[in-house]
Amino acid sequence: MTQDVYLSSGAIENVSAIFDQQNVRSVFVVADRTAYDLSGAKAKLVPALEGRECAFFDAFAPNPKYDDVMRGLHVWRDHPCDMVLAVGGGSAIDMAKLIGICSAHTCESVDLLTGLAPIEHAGPPLIAMPTTAGTGSEATHFAVVYVDGQKYSVAHEFVLPNYAVVDSDLTANLPASITAHTGLDALSQAVESFWSVNATPTSQGFASEALTLVMANLEVAVHNPSPDVRLNMCKAAHLAGKAINISKTTAPHAISYTLTSHFGVPHGLAVALTLGPMLVYNYAVGADDCCHPEGVGPVHKGLHSLLSLFEVEAAQEAHERIEALIVAIGCPTRLGDVGVQTNADIDLLVQNVNTERLQNNPRMLSQDALRALLNNIR
Ligand code: NAD
Repeated sequence: MTQDVYLSSGAIENVSAIFDQQNVRSVFVVADRTAYDLSGAKAKLVPALEGRECAFFDAFAPNPKYDDVMRGLHVWRDHPCDMVLAVGGGSAIDMAKLIGICSAHTCESVDLLTGLAPIEHAGPPLIAMPTTAGTGSEATHFAVVYVDGQKYSVAHEFVLPNYAVVDSDLTANLPASITAHTGLDALSQAVESFWSVNATPTSQGFASEALTLVMANLEVAVHNPSPDVRLNMCKAAHLAGKAINISKTTAPHAISYTLTSHFGVPHGLAVALTLGPMLVYNYAVGADDCCHPEGVGPVHKGLHSLLSLFEVEAAQEAHERIEALIVAIGCPTRLGDVGVQTNADIDLLVQNVNTERLQNNPRMLSQDALRALLNNIR
């Protein structure tokens, strides 16, 4: 499936034209209420929505859960529309993707979301408009959902939004802490995309641009943002999304989901906590524990390119650069600081690591190796 992308300051002004071109008479808005108001999207969308029927769904919390998706599906069934417009961070965009896909199928939604039933139909056309920079969810063909506390990734080409409208002005008032957490997600996606066993020259091209932009802009975006810096972070997030759309994410994401669902750690921070240690771990990959189908050669090549982007020669130095950035933007680097304190807490993380995402990591990660890595940063 193809996607039309509008990425600029003021990109939101293209929404009216999209509606007109597609003869849209009714719009189903899936929005994070806080983001909708504070980003300025609500006010700026008035001309585009005027004269069109509108249904609104905002009854969901960050990180989509099955019950939230079902509530949204009920609202959709009462008010089906010509187009869906998602406004918010990755949570709102994923929510809109999930409602859209469920609405197009007659099977049990829980089967669709947990992979027991195949995705066979596209949902209604979707415009994804991020208000964080970010997840890059507007550029990916998957959506994350928690069913009974378990994380599932709903993946299909039909999940990719038809339009990505990335307006950096919508991130102008983003609080510093959310800028930091979501920026760390873009950083992690760029780094992980580099070493993923599914990496291609194209995905590494997107990832390398994203990484360069994050390293140059994230700290300023948190402490002293300007419109240019906000735009650069939006580009970084979008490019990192395009990168993982090809390569998928790896071990830091696999470990992060329990940090979010059980310990309440914001998604981007949850991922970044193990990013540096995993870089050092992956760098030591050998023929006996390499998961790349073509062996260690391409993995070493990718990791060397990654080090040169960090302008360092050793993996430990890159780890230190990542850690310095995390500290500089006011975030913790130790698991103990986010509530992971006991051996039982570490066991919980080890036992619930997401095996699907772990398969994309270039180096095998046994339970013992993971426990040792986590204990090291407790
Ligand atoms: P989020 O959407 O959960 O939002 C975090 C907080 O930021 C919320 O409280 C929200 O109200 C607030 N917020 C958002 N925009 C704002 C704005 N402009 N001004 C003020 N407050 C604002 O956070 P996120 O990090 O963007 O998304 C995380 C979710 O995205 C996770 O569920 C994660 O699994 C998912 N994700 C999906 C993909 C994908 O490709 N599908 C990729 C990465 C992450």
